[in-house]
Amino acid sequence: SGDCDALNYVLLGDVGAGKSSLVLRFVKGQFVDFQESTIGAAFFSQTLAVNDATIKFEIWDTAGQERYHSLAPMYYRGAAAAVVVYDTTNQASFACAKKWVTELQEQGNTNIVMALAGNKSDLLDSRKVTAEASISEAQVYAQENGLFFMETSAKTAQNVNEIFHEIAKRLPRAQPPQNPS
Ligand code: GDP
Repeated sequence: SGDCDALNYVLLGDVGAGKSSLVLRFVKGQFVDFQESTIGAAFFSQTLAVNDATIKFEIWDTAGQERYHSLAPMYYRGAAAAVVVYDTTNQASFACAKKWVTELQEQGNTNIVMALAGNKSDLLDSRKVTAEASISEAQVYAQENGLFFMETSAKTAQNVNEIFHEIAKRLPRAQPPQNPS
């Protein structure tokens, strides 16, 4: 219907970071321990109220594998917002997230709103570095690069709705909700 703003999101990040799990948690409120890998990309949509307006989230979940990398611009070019996801227990996935941020800065939509999601925050014991050090490293990086940062857990749902909503609030709004005539 015409009274609903649609927002295009794209999720980027290393394979295994938890992109599909975050979308599944956001859209269906579910978590599965052995999420199958995304082939190419998958599309999801979810309608929610944000700040008195009804917003339709249209989300592209990308695969993350190197062999699909050349497809990524098709998804991020049309995106109003990108969620770059890394696994807080895996330093390599943080390095991979930084590469995605650089690519978005160089080739993405100039007005794109970017969020950095440090996912799997429930796995505190598996962290290679202390939780505090990894959070502050990500926070500093996010601040320097104009990203919005949150730690998330698709498993416990920590900050999952919040990260999607927070980005929606940061986007320039097309128009206030209209009264039906
Ligand atoms: P993707 O390749 O980035 O889409 O990652 P997936 O969503 O397929 O997740 C990879 C693996 O990590 C799966 O086994 C998930 O169950 C697991 N996983 C994803 N998010 C979380 C999380 O927040 N906490 C925990 N403990 N495991 C997670």
